[in-house]
Amino acid sequence: MSSYIPNGEVAKSGARPETHAALALRFWNGRRAAVGLVFVALYVTLDWVSLSVERWHGISAWYPPVGLALAILAGVDLWFAPLMLIGSFLASVVNDGQSPLTYTFWFSNTVMVLTYTIAAAVLQKILGAERKLQSLRKVLWYVSVVGCASLIDATVGRLAFIWDKTLAVSSYPKAAMDWCIGDAVALMSLTPFLLAAVVPRVRKYLELPVPPACGCDLAETIREEGSRLRRTAEISAQVVATLGVAWVVFGWDRTKSYDLFYLLFLPAIWIAVRWGLCGATAVILLLNLSVIGTLQRSTPSAYGLGLLQAFMLVVSLTGLCLGSVISERERAEHALRGSEARMEAVIKSIDEAVFVLDVRGTYKNVWVNEGSGLVRPREDFIGRNVHDLLGEKRAEEVMEAFRRVLQTGRGESSEYAVPDGAGTRWYLARVAPIRSACGKPENVCVTSRDITAAKKAEEELRRAKESAEMASRAKSEFLTNMSHEIRTPMNGMIGMTELLLDTELTHEQREYLIALKTAAGSLMTLLNDTLDFAKIETCKLELKSVEFALRDCIDEVRRIARVQAQQKGLKLVWQVSQEVPDLLAGDPMRLRQVLMNLVGNAVKFTERGQVVLEVDTAGQKENSVLLHFRVRDTGIGIPDGKKEMIFDAFTQVDGSGTRKHGGAGLGLAIARRLIELMRGTIWVESEAGRGSTFHFTAKFELPADAAIGPVGMIEREIEN
Ligand code: ADP
Repeated sequence: MSSYIPNGEVAKSGARPETHAALALRFWNGRRAAVGLVFVALYVTLDWVSLSVERWHGISAWYPPVGLALAILAGVDLWFAPLMLIGSFLASVVNDGQSPLTYTFWFSNTVMVLTYTIAAAVLQKILGAERKLQSLRKVLWYVSVVGCASLIDATVGRLAFIWDKTLAVSSYPKAAMDWCIGDAVALMSLTPFLLAAVVPRVRKYLELPVPPACGCDLAETIREEGSRLRRTAEISAQVVATLGVAWVVFGWDRTKSYDLFYLLFLPAIWIAVRWGLCGATAVILLLNLSVIGTLQRSTPSAYGLGLLQAFMLVVSLTGLCLGSVISERERAEHALRGSEARMEAVIKSIDEAVFVLDVRGTYKNVWVNEGSGLVRPREDFIGRNVHDLLGEKRAEEVMEAFRRVLQTGRGESSEYAVPDGAGTRWYLARVAPIRSACGKPENVCVTSRDITAAKKAEEELRRAKESAEMASRAKSEFLTNMSHEIRTPMNGMIGMTELLLDTELTHEQREYLIALKTAAGSLMTLLNDTLDFAKIETCKLELKSVEFALRDCIDEVRRIARVQAQQKGLKLVWQVSQEVPDLLAGDPMRLRQVLMNLVGNAVKFTERGQVVLEVDTAGQKENSVLLHFRVRDTGIGIPDGKKEMIFDAFTQVDGSGTRKHGGAGLGLAIARRLIELMRGTIWVESEAGRGSTFHFTAKFELPADAAIGPVGMIEREIEN
């Protein structure tokens, strides 16, 4: 539930609703009471004028008090309705001499105030927050509402006169019709003028919300155009023409029965076209006033008066409709100019040229700024075709893109080059369809950005990348060659050391030679790793596919690891699940290398506890099997932030020069690449200080006669 509050505010639901009396008290302040007093005084005065000055045959040509009241109720606030009632009571007593003791007094006044208050409430909805007749739609709604209101007021209000026996039943239809037309003429001529010119000022005075650009928009636009003198001269000419035409039609003795009535349209059209709705409301009011004025000279017959009222209604309606159409068009043009200015500002800030072309590829409009980098001036484009400017081949490509965009309704982007003197300029073009008001794609919008600088930078980057890659390849090849070259004498040195160890030596000499052999072995491992890594970098590493027994392969790893584990007092546990097939097809040497690396690391980084190698299947198909290997230790573990980087080359958790454990940081990088070649993945689970588990999967082919879990194989072995 929301309750109405003056000032156009609405009480939020949930707040305690105020009583009507409290709302009324809150509405009335000094200024509003002053406006209310003026309103009542004007109402009574206008009623007096219409009764005493312009009453012929018992009826008046128009009844301006209702025009004033409706403008105030609809344009300012409905709280003025009680004042309208007071005004009409006062007018009936003071001007018409009615007794407050008659039915007519109470009934006709109450019906009138009630009818126009309801009409004002409806009009507030139609006019919206602007409280103005801004469009043809609003004008037509306004005419319908006031037409209905005046008809209801006249037909219901006049019933009281029959009741009071001041009106014969037979005269009722004509009397009601006269009243209705009298009200309608005032509502069509006075109210629109008041709404356009007076109400915004009253609202401002009462500190009620006033929509922006109060008054008439068109008049404001024109006011900015010419000189003050010119405008004054034009307005004066229009007033003189209006009064002159009114005199010719109504006041000139030679015209009979308003023969020249159609002349009234001339000033109405002239002023409406020049000044829009605001001017139209003013000229209508002026015409009506001059009609009343000229009627003073010659009293029309009852028929003539009715005819005159009908004429005035037609002129008023025409003026209002024409004025609203002109105002609407002017507003639309204003909005268009505004949106064009906004678009220009946007284009200026984006360094892009924007083209609008029709379906045949003719440039209809072009927006550019200095940063757009156009090779031709803007004027060269407009009215010309893409075939004239882009050359046959490029134009055909462009037209093809247009056709696609118009057909699918989806935009496209493409890069294109334009020869520019000795060089070439590159552009990024985006083509999008422009739809007509009925939604049909009609034109295309092409935005074009100069990307020559970006293209040059891209090209330089590509060249730099290529030369960096070439340098890296050369380095890797050098590394491979050097490793090869060093490996040959190293083999010789190891062989000679072994031969020397078989000869008769003193205890001291033997110890020196064993140390020499160990150091040479470490150097050999490093050389092998370097060679492997160089092969990985140059993509020369390939796997073999031979039949091998998995458990034999694991056994070899076990034998090598056992020596180191025993030296450190670690327990080694080997567990191969029963369902793991033994005979596989793959590269046993590389598998051994991976396992050696992981088990070797596990032993290297564990001081106490155990190292476990577990193997089971992670999935099996008819001719292949995916094995899951786990190497678990109770060593130093790996901190959280380092788990990913240890698989990169030359990276170690402890990279300091004072680190305790040796190594080049290549082992896991090589293992990862080898595992990828075995169509598997490697990952680690670890907690610093509590040990690590390295997992990896690897896929192997199954030879036709592969056996699962052959008898005699050690499925679980623990050694100390
Ligand atoms: P490195 O030759 O240095 O051992 P790796 O690539 O094999 O090279 O290992 C990289 C780094 O990963 C090691 O230096 C070590 O810091 C960490 N790391 C590898 N395995 C383990 C493990 N089982 N426990 C703790 N840290 C490990």
